[in-house]
Parts: sequence; structure tokens; C-alpha cells
Amino acid sequence: MKIGVLALQGDFDAHRRRLEELGAEVVLVKKPEQLDDIDGLIIPGGESGTFLKLLGEKGFAKLKDFVHSKPSFGTCAGCILLATDIENPKQAGLGALDITVRRNAYGRQIDSSIRDGRFLNEPIEMVFIRAPKIERTGAGVEVVAAEGNDPVLVRNSKTLASTFHPELSDDPRIHQYFLDLVRSDQAKRAEV
Ligand code: GLN
Repeated sequence: MKIGVLALQGDFDAHRRRLEELGAEVVLVKKPEQLDDIDGLIIPGGESGTFLKLLGEKGFAKLKDFVHSKPSFGTCAGCILLATDIENPKQAGLGALDITVRRNAYGRQIDSSIRDGRFLNEPIEMVFIRAPKIERTGAGVEVVAAEGNDPVLVRNSKTLASTFHPELSDDPRIHQYFLDLVRSDQAKRAEV
């Protein structure tokens, strides 16, 4: 199983290390054509506006095709990129997950924090850095983890997105969950 990590900016290397610890083969994706060769993609945290600039129109279109056909997991800025609707300010999204996300929703006072949430009903540490908030989840979007009353990890059949940074906690469960999602997508493809 080959997993790409979008490596244009942001904390892609922590994702690479975690995926390798879990036995996945990792490709750092710097060029659009590399998307042709992977089974799933992680879009890391960083600054979503900067990602849009670095991708350019062609890169955005290629990435959009990818996330609409294969599994992807966006963390923080990556979650913002995968959304259909983005606020504060409004910006383009890849539209793989029917959610509304508000950027930098916690204000400057709580720029970053470590909080405890629940993942599949088990307690888990969550690292938030200038985090967005998921304000709306559309039909077919399932909440997989919450912090207080806020959904912080959501999915549909092949797209996963978190407003926190699982790669910065010493806990492999969320990345394992994504690898399981990629594996089940591959199994489905093999049946067809
Ligand atoms: N605040 C960033 C944005 O709006 C996301 C922050 C992060 O990825 N840690 O894109």
C-alpha cells in the first residue's frame, strides 16, 4: 500500500514517520504526476491559503480529481482544503467532504492547545494549532471524534478530515484508522 503525503509545505514529515512506523510505503508528493502512483493521500497542516497558491490552478484540478476518486485524509489546513464550504475568509475547497469549516475559529488567545477528546468513544489526546472549526456536517458525513460538543474528526466513505494534528501526539490510532480506510477502499476496487 503506497500512501502519499502532500509535501508542498507544513508538517508533512511527522506524517511520513508515523505512516512508516505503521508499515506503509510513503511517497512525499511534490509534483502532480506523483498522485497517479498512490493509493491514498494525506494533506497535512500548514496554511491553507498558501497551499492554494503553491498548487496553482493545474495542481488544484489534479488534486481535486484525486480526492474525488481515492481516499484522502486532511489534517487542519488539509481539512480546510477538503471541505465544500470555507469561511473566514471564503476560499476554494476541493469539495471531497460536505462540511462547512471556519478557519482560525478559536481566535488568537487560544492559538494552540492540547485537549482531551473522544475517538470512537475512547479518550484521546488532541493537539490544536490555529485550528478551524467544523460548523456543519452534511448528509453522509459521520463524526468519528469529538472534543466537547465539536466534531473534530469526520469522514464519508473515502475522505477523512481532522481539525487537530494526530501526527503530533504519540498515538498511532488515527493514522491506523486511515490506513484501514485505504485498505477497505482497495478491497472494494478489487471486487469490481
Ligand atoms: N490556520 C490554518 C489555516 O487556516 C490551519 C492551521 C494548521 O494547519 N495548523 O489554513
